[in-house]
Amino acid sequence: MPIGDWFKKQERNTARSPAVEKRIIPDGVWEKCKGCNEPLFVKELERNLKVCPKCFFHFPVSAYERIYQLTDLHSFEELWGDLIPGDPLGFAANKPYIDSLAKAKDKTGLNEAVVCGRARIDGFQVAIAVMDFGFIGGSMGSVVGEKIKRITELATREYLPLIIVCSSGGARMQEGMISLMQMAKTSAAIARHQDQGLPYISILSHPTTGGVSASFATLADIIIAEPHALIGFTGARVIEQTIRQKLPKDFQTAEFNLAHGMVDMVVNRLELKRMVARLLDYLGASGVKE
Ligand SMILES: [Zn+2]
Repeated sequence: MPIGDWFKKQERNTARSPAVEKRIIPDGVWEKCKGCNEPLFVKELERNLKVCPKCFFHFPVSAYERIYQLTDLHSFEELWGDLIPGDPLGFAANKPYIDSLAKAKDKTGLNEAVVCGRARIDGFQVAIAVMDFGFIGGSMGSVVGEKIKRITELATREYLPLIIVCSSGGARMQEGMISLMQMAKTSAAIARHQDQGLPYISILSHPTTGGVSASFATLADIIIAEPHALIGFTGARVIEQTIRQKLPKDFQTAEFNLAHGMVDMVVNRLELKRMVARLLDYLGASGVKE
């Protein structure tokens, strides 16, 4: 944006919002923290793995950002990136499903809501899948299920530990029953990986809900959650209406799930790579360390 336009924009912003507490934040340079409302320098935020240095609020990250943060530099080799979903029902709600897919592709640069491949984490060779919430809410349709199944089978075949970073609103209902079938398909693949005695670590980021939380996300040997991530199956409001009881304020947070035994640890993103590497070592993956 030319500097003249920037000043004009600031004047407009000031005129519209005279409240002193309202800070002026130019696009792309500063971002306001949703946790503490402080303006954060975008470059600094990125250096800090998109965690607010003041209040530790965890900003959402895309699949590729996560891979960059979690795996060793240049070690990631993507697989099946060209798989694209069909539209078996010819589904249309507010807009046709194929239009939603095209829009999601434009927005994220991805063909689907999960990115898979081989990589190294602190030297350990792993098979990894990372979901992207920006692609139709990280929903699981036929391609997400197929790619999770393929990466799990590759891990089984090649005796590799499996790492899946989850972020999903659940099954992709635009694909109807085919999306629900992915829960069974991915779970069966993970059971075969487990039969080989190979480690599987899942990382639940905000939010991990619905059919993903009810299948591969929670079948891991070790389940890690990011701080304050929403983790659950059905939304709290629906549960309240069904059971006619008020739910606790922190219901379905990572911390609530930890206290109730549904996740094994809550790990700050800044410590995540180190913790995954330690767990891989502990779980006996050292044999594959290069
Ligand atoms: Zn903050």
